[in-house]
Amino acid sequence: MQAIVEAEKGGFQIAAWDWDFYAEKVRKERYAFDESQLKPYFELRRVLVDVVFYAATKLYGITFKERTDLHGYSPDMLVFEVFNEDGTPLALFLGDYYARPNKRGGAWMNAYVSQNGLTGDKPVVANHLNIPKPPAGEPTLLTLDEVRTCFHEFGHALHGMFSNVKYPRFAGTAVPRDFVEYPSQVNEMWRDWPEVLAHYARHYQTGAPLPVELLDKVAAAAKFNQGYMTTELVAANVIDQAWHQLAPADVPGADGVVAFETAALKKAGVDFAPVPPRYRSTYFSHSMGGYSAGYYSYFWSEVLDADTVDWIKTHGGLTRANGDRFRTMLLSRGGSDEAMNLFRNFTGGEPDIRPLLARRGLDQPAP
Ligand SMILES: [Zn+2]
Repeated sequence: MQAIVEAEKGGFQIAAWDWDFYAEKVRKERYAFDESQLKPYFELRRVLVDVVFYAATKLYGITFKERTDLHGYSPDMLVFEVFNEDGTPLALFLGDYYARPNKRGGAWMNAYVSQNGLTGDKPVVANHLNIPKPPAGEPTLLTLDEVRTCFHEFGHALHGMFSNVKYPRFAGTAVPRDFVEYPSQVNEMWRDWPEVLAHYARHYQTGAPLPVELLDKVAAAAKFNQGYMTTELVAANVIDQAWHQLAPADVPGADGVVAFETAALKKAGVDFAPVPPRYRSTYFSHSMGGYSAGYYSYFWSEVLDADTVDWIKTHGGLTRANGDRFRTMLLSRGGSDEAMNLFRNFTGGEPDIRPLLARRGLDQPAP
């Protein structure tokens, strides 16, 4: 980026406020491609049934039967009964994918009925997304990121549907906050799995397969600017932790907030001026709101996720054996055991940071 500034005879050092502008120039030069070229290959219903469900069948042997006789609270709601490999009923899965004027934003999973051994209830779980509904007669084409979200939320749904615990208090996703995103992030790995892609990625009109060059471009761009994004996240985590480790008497006044942040960042070795924290204390609602000292949970889940994905890749990938292992050792246990025990049972070791660094391209010098 500094080289671009020099070439343009800018005559200044890159600072925090220049980063996005010049990073975008580098991205365009090295990785530019039009993401909308991918959309015709990702039609919603096809993504759900031939991709997300397909991967789950390959892994867990479960099958899906649409229940058009059951109606959700919105006419667009999809209802599927889910069966185990031996044909026994497992759960109901509700798919609520479209945005509506009165719907909360974002994407989330909800368990309307939690599995538990006390009442014998089977789970009823839903995925809620906010995909814009196309005009009548037109297909719903997803962005690659929306396809990822479908896999992510379905990962939460699997956690809920495979729950096999006695007490509802521990069912499915009722796990610690710094663990709950881990299984759902692992499920994202199947979006880019060659066998899954080969199965579904066809143009919705022509039936042509998804060009490999396009996917290669997506993969190459995924590591771009990760040094920046990782550093700003780490810095925000450091500040969150620093605030919550203060004794009441040590809390600075309003005029000491900036100095407090600077000192905390310096102590952790992330006081790099061109890459400031992703959030500053004065508006960091995750820190002084619901997450209180838990902002790290996103990042920590990713450490567990990348390590587990690495394990699965080196143990055969998309197989029934791996699915059964993940289901019985981890997903079915919900919060009924210590989260770290569940992780160790599955991978056979302590969390390793290296797969996350490799995923973000931080295990090698910048190109
Ligand atoms: Zn999630």
